[in-house]
Amino acid sequence: MRRFFSRYVTRQKFTTGAISKLKEQPRIPVDSIISSTTRSTTSTTHPSNEKFMLILGKPGGGKGTISSKILKDFPDMEHISTGDILRQHVRDETELGKEAKEYMDHGDLVPDEVMIRLVLDYSTNSIGNGKHLLLDGFPRTIKQAAALDESINVDVVVDLNIPTEIIVERIADRWIHAASGRVYNYSYNPPLNHGKDDESGEDLVQRYDDKPKTVRKRLDAYDKATSPLIQYYEKKGVLKTFSGTMSDKIYPEVKKWLNKMGMNR
Ligand code: AMP
Repeated sequence: MRRFFSRYVTRQKFTTGAISKLKEQPRIPVDSIISSTTRSTTSTTHPSNEKFMLILGKPGGGKGTISSKILKDFPDMEHISTGDILRQHVRDETELGKEAKEYMDHGDLVPDEVMIRLVLDYSTNSIGNGKHLLLDGFPRTIKQAAALDESINVDVVVDLNIPTEIIVERIADRWIHAASGRVYNYSYNPPLNHGKDDESGEDLVQRYDDKPKTVRKRLDAYDKATSPLIQYYEKKGVLKTFSGTMSDKIYPEVKKWLNKMGMNR
């Protein structure tokens, strides 16, 4: 699998190639991004102790917070957040970043082809290294999930179910330090000085896609494109939904379940 990833997907594509170029490239149909050779040899298995885990949930619904708690308790876990990766590209002003920004700022999903390649690229070093992998923000469409299924056996899916009105309130309270991406929330993780980053003292800003109109579009995109994934993974028997409003209350249940699913490190 690793050999396949490195052959077809290189980080360079994302630093020098634009989304439009990626979309134009007809030579690798999305469905064959993961080769049939890989399928037949590694099939849907991966080294026995490595678990492959996903976290699903509405934008602003605490995926990042729950993920960081998981990482603390399960140190043998690598975390890949597609939102974080894309925002880093935007900050670095790469070609990918410039074009992804258009979609992100409007609350739209970045095209599947681009996301699938991006994730495969970033997973290259994380698969087969003895660590669990936690994917946060991917898949977000059935097409992305199907592409993932071609090579990877998803073991565990944590689905966070947070009421929409709570999310809208929370997002309004979320401010960031643009240069570093550090995230604050005025309700539960405020900066030491109002409006200022703790480390640099620079001004905090609101993420462009956290503005109310964009948030509504992101929630819509979740309902239309992403929520069908709940059923998709439910059918596979790997998903558990955690409902609530406070991550401190939800997380102990998540941890208990992860232990039950065999994640013990
Ligand atoms: P997040 O921080 O996970 O909410 O992601 C921020 C934005 O990045 C989303 O609103 C999308 O525009 C884009 N994005 C992140 N992950 C994906 C994905 N798997 N598919 C499409 N777009 C994505």
